[in-house]
Amino acid sequence: MTLRNGKEFLMIPGPTNVPDEVLRAMHRPAMDIYEGPLMETTQVCLDGLKRMFRTDGKPYIYISNGHGAWDAALTNTLSRGDKVLVLESGRFATVWGEGATVTGLDVEVMPGDWRMPVDLEALAERLSRDPDHAIKAILVVQVDTASGVLNDIPGIRRVLDAAGHPALLMVDLIASLGCVPFEMDAWGVDLALTGSQKGLMTPPGLSFIAAGPRALEAHKTADLRVNYFDWTFRDGPEHYQKYCGTPPVQMLFAFRAALELIETEGLEAVWKRHRMLGDATRAAVQVWGEAGAIEMNILVPEARSDSVSVLRFNEGDANAVRAFARETCGVTIGGTIGELAGKGLRIGHMGHVNGVMLLGTLACLELALGRCGVPHGRGGVEAAIACISDGLNG
Ligand SMILES: *Cc1c(COP(=O)(O)O)cnc(C)c1O
Repeated sequence: MTLRNGKEFLMIPGPTNVPDEVLRAMHRPAMDIYEGPLMETTQVCLDGLKRMFRTDGKPYIYISNGHGAWDAALTNTLSRGDKVLVLESGRFATVWGEGATVTGLDVEVMPGDWRMPVDLEALAERLSRDPDHAIKAILVVQVDTASGVLNDIPGIRRVLDAAGHPALLMVDLIASLGCVPFEMDAWGVDLALTGSQKGLMTPPGLSFIAAGPRALEAHKTADLRVNYFDWTFRDGPEHYQKYCGTPPVQMLFAFRAALELIETEGLEAVWKRHRMLGDATRAAVQVWGEAGAIEMNILVPEARSDSVSVLRFNEGDANAVRAFARETCGVTIGGTIGELAGKGLRIGHMGHVNGVMLLGTLACLELALGRCGVPHGRGGVEAAIACISDGLNG
């Protein structure tokens, strides 16, 4: 017996659901890449990126996934052998650091706990042991999709400022831009990057960087520069230089449509929607967790992301729950990865997700917990509904 036939729900932390408007915007024939509508679309995308990142810095578009933006960030601003400090809080900053090692940087990881945000005191302590400013850049994620953490980026800036440390602050927003508040300029972030396929509701394949004045200054002396990612070349006069070759035409129209959707809703309203989705999920998990088998992975309530919720199973088979949701109900929920592999669930509630999709997913999960014999408190969905109702009141 299956209840699966009907609209499938994809509730993983990326790639995320692509709105029909975005898919339709891609459905167009090949076009001239030297003049015509594409020139304007490039400009609209670049201007929109500045509003998304909340910056007057310079935006760049790459035909790559997030890993490409990681490389672009490092090669444009650093030199061979430079020391970078990776702030671990899950998996993704660490993987960025592993790539940095291959690129020729001297990578130090400040160990973190998978259940906690980046420890600001530990960072202050580490910086205090760097009087000669050997550390040239700090690599951190705002949201880590493996642990579900939301890091305190303004707090990290304050620690750098208090230490008088000039390291570039580079932030990965792949799982958070267009989901949770981010203010590149107001928060003093030197370089921010993201991908198209999560909060930005566009198919995978584009990545974006915003470079602030200190990153652009560092670029002038960086010796890791490579042609494809190079900002200097991309700043040249010809349109094709912005892409270092043929532009990703259909993807640009897709991204433009996604920007329009975000700006029609309003970026702050988008943040608020994600807050309500996150709150509702946490309300359900709180009730389910009363039986002791399930809990939120992140222990600090204010460091739980509104774009993805990572649940930890102390008892019961998380993979059986996922399989039931997918095979019987047509709801695809993410599995956990890295140190949590097989021990939990990742519910993606980022991008093109509304209240029905979330409540449907939570109801499906509550059904699955019962069917799979995972001990849980009853009434998680009711708690989520109450939470959304409260959210609508103010
Ligand atoms: C998904 C994700 C990445 C990886 O992005 P790719 O597009 O797969 O390279 C990096 N960082 C974070 C925080 C992510 O969520």
